[in-house]
Amino acid sequence: MIYDRDKLIIIENQVLAPYAVKSKDSRGREYQENEDLTRLPFQKDRDRIIHCRAFRRLKMKTQVFVAHYGDHYRTRLTHSLEVAQISRDLARSLGLNEDLAETIALAHDLGHTPFGHAGQEALDEILRPFGLHFEHNQQSKRIVEILENVYPDFSGLNLSFEVRQGLLKHQSPWDQKTSKFHSTSLEAQVVNLADEIAYSNHDIDDGLRAGLITEKELRKLSIWQAVEDQVNNRYGSIRQTNIRQARLISTMIGLMIQDLINFSNLILEKNNINSLEKVYKSKKKLISFSPTQVVWNAELKKFLTDHLYFHPQVLSISRHGQKTLKILFARYHANHELLPKEEQKQIKDGINPEIVIKDYLAGMTDDFAKQEARIHTPSL
Ligand code: MG
Repeated sequence: MIYDRDKLIIIENQVLAPYAVKSKDSRGREYQENEDLTRLPFQKDRDRIIHCRAFRRLKMKTQVFVAHYGDHYRTRLTHSLEVAQISRDLARSLGLNEDLAETIALAHDLGHTPFGHAGQEALDEILRPFGLHFEHNQQSKRIVEILENVYPDFSGLNLSFEVRQGLLKHQSPWDQKTSKFHSTSLEAQVVNLADEIAYSNHDIDDGLRAGLITEKELRKLSIWQAVEDQVNNRYGSIRQTNIRQARLISTMIGLMIQDLINFSNLILEKNNINSLEKVYKSKKKLISFSPTQVVWNAELKKFLTDHLYFHPQVLSISRHGQKTLKILFARYHANHELLPKEEQKQIKDGINPEIVIKDYLAGMTDDFAKQEARIHTPSL
């Protein structure tokens, strides 16, 4: 039996919760195209993202640690895959559309600059004097709508409306001035918090591996105490550091996922959310951690900021990255001929040079940016 598109649509309608985004509810694509015989639209969107150039570049972009710090540290690519895995688990448990959640998750960091958040800050600072700014969610949307160029008839990947809107965190899919809709899909809300679960946990894992934080320091956190209790109850004391830490991190991910599923389900039931329309009209966040977990997560975030993100070793790498971007911007801005032909053509076609250079720099991997900067500044 072939599970073709028609059959998949029937299954989707039978299996998904009434508040999920089903393929039949999609507002479609900007440019009309024939849909696939065997894949649903969000599945096709996911495949387009996995095959796009910006997705491949994520492998050489910093998450918190520089990509070549060591083979086992996260990069933007492995981070995105972890967010997709957590998003799918959450979506499945809540009866949401796994394909949509997975697609948004895989694309959510496409717009990130090289050198992590430090790179984003530097690029924003560079652009301000020109009346422009940089924000990675907007850039992710720009990549899939304009910058990826693989079709003869249009720019971008022509993704479904719900995927593109899901990339804009904290924004409603409709203009609030002209509409009574307030909220994004539950799938997009799930990805937002899956992102938080993924980075909180892998940053601790990477921080422990790098020796920048210790289990002893973590023991001051309420969540870590709860996690240690669970691991000790299940395994007794584990002597081998790598195995113990793997169990602790895995348990913490599980704890956060379970809390988010249980509490979100409670909110959905309490507010009688029984249709997609009610999701879009809701002014409340419908996907949320429990109040206790919110406090625990805030404590954890503060710990990571104080001990890891502002660790002198991390900061020094970040500053180096920022300097690299500033040097490159100044160089390309002063001499457009140093840009690749494609970018030069965009400027000749009338696109603002600062925007062209911004897109080019934001797309770079850490390594490529460093290499480019060293061509004229070998001491970098
Ligand atoms: Mg992310």
